[in-house]
Amino acid sequence: MARVLSFHYTLTNGAGTTLDSSEGRGPLAFIEGAGQIIPGLEKELVALKSGAKKEIKVPAAEAYGLREEELIVKIPKSGLPVPEVKVGDRFSGGPDNQSPVFVVTTIQGEEVTLDGNHPLAGQDLTFNIEMKEIREATPEELQHGHAHGENGHHH
Ligand code: ZN
Repeated sequence: MARVLSFHYTLTNGAGTTLDSSEGRGPLAFIEGAGQIIPGLEKELVALKSGAKKEIKVPAAEAYGLREEELIVKIPKSGLPVPEVKVGDRFSGGPDNQSPVFVVTTIQGEEVTLDGNHPLAGQDLTFNIEMKEIREATPEELQHGHAHGENGHHH
């Protein structure tokens, strides 16, 4: 049986800047082994007991990957699906939500530079974890592929 683990976290990058936190939102719940959490974090989380606190460092390669130069592309403005574009605009690189999202980073004349790297790519991450609850996943949760309940998915 797979388990559902709920944990509080504060995420900081290598420079010590807080990037994200579950503070004030309630813990994050995930199903063990369902690929919902970055691999480098999940392998540490599944070893924790309820109530445990731990600082987990995840190198970039096991978090959101290294920055890839191939994902930085220059295209003419006319190649974009919209008539007007500005820095910070985002475009999906494909039909589904697994496709990389490309962000406009620079515009020079008619040339637009797009970056398809995840915003956290190339960053070593530190998670300060407090494991709140560990329980068996219900058959319904396993079928849906996500945790239900107070801190999980709501239908
Ligand atoms: Zn569901």
